[in-house]
Amino acid sequence: MSKTTYVGRRSFLKLAALGAAASSAFGSNETLRSATKEEIKNPFPNSVMKRTICSICSVGCGIEAEVDEGSNVWIRQDMAVDHPISQGSHCCKGIDQIDLTKSKMRLKYPLKKVNGKWERISWETAVNEIGDKMLKIREEDGPDSVEFLGSAKFSNEQAFYFRKFAAFWGTNNIDHVARI
Ligand code: SF4
Repeated sequence: MSKTTYVGRRSFLKLAALGAAASSAFGSNETLRSATKEEIKNPFPNSVMKRTICSICSVGCGIEAEVDEGSNVWIRQDMAVDHPISQGSHCCKGIDQIDLTKSKMRLKYPLKKVNGKWERISWETAVNEIGDKMLKIREEDGPDSVEFLGSAKFSNEQAFYFRKFAAFWGTNNIDHVARI
């Protein structure tokens, strides 16, 4: 699909993107200015559309990803209307897949709730605390007291390791999140 097909919706998004970029770059609304006609028309002059696939589940819906070639940053997402599987549609997870990389809510480090508030902890602390709790559960109630529930976002390799982990743990209680 040509880029010109998106003009109406994308013009609005471009205005929003320029405002957000200026705001986060300078940390103040005082530095905001109106976008020039040229910027509205083409805020990322070096962007290219790349056809890719949603990785959230195995359906494999098509995504048009607009990527800034200079920085290789994924800028915007659109639907691949001629995709043979999704035929221009997405579910509520896939339609915002770009948020997996861009969302300000994205979890980037372990958090622990202490006295009702989330506190940042190190990966080492997180792994040790979770591991100690799991070992205690296994010691007290046996390996079959736990079920391992895989994620639809696992790659093949992650699924392989996850299955191995459950086997070494000592249980066959393992399933896929999509089945619930
Ligand atoms: S858009 Fe939804 S149904 Fe399609 S691959 Fe992504 S998660 Fe699966």
